[in-house]
Parts: sequence; structure tokens; C-alpha cells
Amino acid sequence: MTEEKNRKQRLHEAIRNAKGKQTKHRFLAIAVTDQSVEILSCAAGGAYLELHDYSTGSVSLDEEAITRDLEEWFPILLAKQEEKYRCPVCSDEKNGLFGLITCLNDNHDYTRTQVADVIRPIEEAWEAERSVQREI
Ligand SMILES: [Zn+2]
Repeated sequence: MTEEKNRKQRLHEAIRNAKGKQTKHRFLAIAVTDQSVEILSCAAGGAYLELHDYSTGSVSLDEEAITRDLEEWFPILLAKQEEKYRCPVCSDEKNGLFGLITCLNDNHDYTRTQVADVIRPIEEAWEAERSVQREI
């Protein structure tokens, strides 16, 4: 996959398309067994892996570096970082999409598909908002 193609994935699509075992409380975790080395990821970490360019040869485990990359790839994360989202499961108010994704992933065992289903309408509304602004 080229980087250009990668960049066209939307956040909920990258979450939905992410592969590998899911984990909690960290973007990424490494599971080493005598058979294999496996990268586990949370819903947002999965999106990171989905877009990461492996030709650079490294995947960062640094949470801040991953956050920066995700915010660069998915501008909605920065645009909506001050926004409050009510978690559909526990009704807690969450700060930004990261907060919402984390609650679903860590507290409610949501699968990536389920997380993507929650993010999709938020992302579509944001895209509609942006296209209206461009027409003015
Ligand atoms: Zn919750």
C-alpha cells in the first residue's frame, strides 16, 4: 500500500480494517511467545498500525509519538479534542474522540467494528460540516 492510499482512509475505516489481537490501556503491546512475536493494539492503536508505513522499518511504541501520528493522519482528532462526547454505554462525558474510543475499548470491551460504528456518524457529521464551510 502506498502512503497516499493509506492517507485516504478515514478514522473509522482504519479502526474497522485494523487486524491483529486487541488490547487495552495502551496503543500497542508486544506479545512474545516461543512461537511468535505479535503486536497487539487497542482500537486507536489498530488504526495507527493500519496506516503505518512499514517500509520505514519501525513501529513506535511511544504513546506520544503514536498520538502525534494519529492526529496528523486524522485531523478530526485535533479538531474535536475539546468536544465532549457521551459514552453510549456508561453515559460518562468523555473529552474528545480519543477519550470516547478509550472508554469503549478499555471499559466496555468493544470490538474494533463496534468502535468504528460509534465513530462513523461523528466523522460523517464532521465531514459534512467541513464541506459546508468550504462552500461559503
Ligand atoms: Zn464508557
